[in-house]
Amino acid sequence: VDGDVMEAADACVWDRFGFETRRLAPLPDPVNAYDLRRNQYSSVPILRDLVSRRPADAVRLLALTEKDLFIPMLSFIYGQAQLGQSVALVSLARLRQEFYGLPPNQRTLLARTLKESLHEVGHTFNLVHCPDPACVMSVATNIRQLDRKTGAYCRTCGVLLSESLSAVRRRAVASGETR
Ligand SMILES: [Zn+2]
Ligand SMILES: [Zn+2]
Repeated sequence: VDGDVMEAADACVWDRFGFETRRLAPLPDPVNAYDLRRNQYSSVPILRDLVSRRPADAVRLLALTEKDLFIPMLSFIYGQAQLGQSVALVSLARLRQEFYGLPPNQRTLLARTLKESLHEVGHTFNLVHCPDPACVMSVATNIRQLDRKTGAYCRTCGVLLSESLSAVRRRAVASGETR
């Protein structure tokens, strides 16, 4: 994934969650997750692999990929995370204007990537889907719905997130995981 996107994601994580970020070396292509018939990558084995790659001192691991992802019951997904668990995954494949036959737009790509990253990382902090379509935790099944969201958590999700973050921080301090 290109450096600008990684930098924006880094800054966003630091800004919203208050955890120091560290960038890992790019991972090899997830060939074992490739589905030849769909020409897409299955997100479940990728998430499983990410769990095993999370550094012991990391609170969360967010992975960004250019690969187009799916889960068996959906034709595609923008990303996936395990509720209250440690890893989140976001695909840029369908966040690019080029995917819709439009000229590239870096600003749009960054905005969408950050919304999707906040959404998936939000799940790792126990946030579930929100009925407020402007909230970053609302469901987006198409790009219009994603663009309609703001890059922010609504008040309710924001409160739940703060509680979750405080609990994670207390645990991390107790186990000496953060510096
Ligand atoms: Zn979701
Ligand atoms: Zn919300």
